[in-house]
Amino acid sequence: MGLTERIERNVDLSYFEGRIPVNYLYTYGLGFEKFFRALKEEGKLLASKCPRCGTTYFPCRVFCEQCFCEIEGTLGVSGEGTLYSYSVCHLNMDGSPKKTPEVVGLIEMDGTDGAKFVHLIDAQPEEIQIGMRLKPVLKPKKERNGDIFDIKGFKKA
Ligand SMILES: [Zn+2]
Repeated sequence: MGLTERIERNVDLSYFEGRIPVNYLYTYGLGFEKFFRALKEEGKLLASKCPRCGTTYFPCRVFCEQCFCEIEGTLGVSGEGTLYSYSVCHLNMDGSPKKTPEVVGLIEMDGTDGAKFVHLIDAQPEEIQIGMRLKPVLKPKKERNGDIFDIKGFKKA
């Protein structure tokens, strides 16, 4: 398969099953640490706004990716937004059918710029419509670990 060929079936991709023993330490960095700490401890979603160009980032950043300006402070956002696009996944990576379809959406989050990929939960594919309002669903506080999986997914607002 050439590099420019379009892959239309996920079973055409090369993959292997197994485990690779890798030890690593990942740090969130200054901006993401604020985000994940607030998510874990307070159940808050933090964004940040560039004081120069006005771009608002979710999750929060400490530097603007547009104009490289330093960003101090954060602002809380609801996490609610509008579904821009979505895809319904019926197959697992090995080509076998999923027990229930999984829906991945692209959400334009209120008060932020850009869009984010999210999992849609508690929704039947036939109920999903572009333009529908979504809201985040967080794990209960005692189950949160300070990682992205503390957000269980997004559901109809
Ligand atoms: Zn900026």
